[in-house]
Amino acid sequence: MLSYLNGPQSDPFHYIYSSRGWLTDYDPPGPFPFFLNLEPTNACQLDCLFCSRQMSERPLGRVDLGTAAALMDEVARHPGTAVRFTGWGEPLLHPQIDELVKIVKERGIPLKIYTNGLALTDALTDAILALEVDDLQFSMQGLNEKQYLFNRVGGDYEKLCRNIERVSRKRGGQKKPFLSILTSVLADELEEESPEDFTAKWLGTVDKVGVDLTNLNFVRHLDRLSPHLGRQSAGLRRGRCVDVFLALEVKYDGLIQYCGQDSRSLPEHVIGRFPEMTLSEAWLGEAMEERRNKVGRALGHEQFPVCRNCYHNTDKYDAFKKRLSGGQENGQ
Ligand code: SF4
Repeated sequence: MLSYLNGPQSDPFHYIYSSRGWLTDYDPPGPFPFFLNLEPTNACQLDCLFCSRQMSERPLGRVDLGTAAALMDEVARHPGTAVRFTGWGEPLLHPQIDELVKIVKERGIPLKIYTNGLALTDALTDAILALEVDDLQFSMQGLNEKQYLFNRVGGDYEKLCRNIERVSRKRGGQKKPFLSILTSVLADELEEESPEDFTAKWLGTVDKVGVDLTNLNFVRHLDRLSPHLGRQSAGLRRGRCVDVFLALEVKYDGLIQYCGQDSRSLPEHVIGRFPEMTLSEAWLGEAMEERRNKVGRALGHEQFPVCRNCYHNTDKYDAFKKRLSGGQENGQ
């Protein structure tokens, strides 16, 4: 369920989300992805119940500014492509996050930052406002403090709320950043609290609120999840992957991956490494095209350890989404 304060057109990425290339005509893919997802760091302060990061043994690290600049030089040669700071860590924990933002924005590239919101200090808030980040999306969990703390192990609900309210207040009448909250819930948490009340509480402070179903597929084999699996009632029906037509993923160490679902950087999920391989070479190369053939144009997911557990961008949540949105679908 997605709700906007001022309609979907207010979303800075509406030009992508509403384009035919994003919604329907994505095969064959364009010369460059719609989004380049960059992992600033894989460090995180939390240990969320559902997060695949708990399976990762990658050393902690962060992208260096030279690599980021070279990546953005290439992205800037493809106007319209946007960058998302995301990955298997908290982007705001990169100690030079303001410099990273500057590298993207001074090249005129639209930027969205995903954050758990806890490291958003007063100074960083000012920097994000001054640098005109296009979209700042807060990832939450649950629909109230109790549900948030249960899912976001190590989180601080009050601090998060304070930080969201502060950036909203400081932004005042300024347009950027567009502010959004995306929360996800376990199915029976919906019986304790209503998504409509959650949305009504936040819309106004932020411009967009999304409520979705928590994805436990990648971590369902982990012991600490087993008591909660019964709660997720959505059926698993695999569909063709669309991610491989829309976005490319780069990890902090320059690894280029087929998508963002792999927390471990498994060799089967790595295309190459930047800068030895350019983004264009990865996007238009044989490996990507082969993966598109296998999981984007067919249902060969079983051949790959990450795709095997992936019901991403398929109809897994459609029933749930319909229920939440009163029948509407959304393509994001
Ligand atoms: S099917 Fe594979 S390539 Fe596509 S999003 Fe899932 S894990 Fe990534």
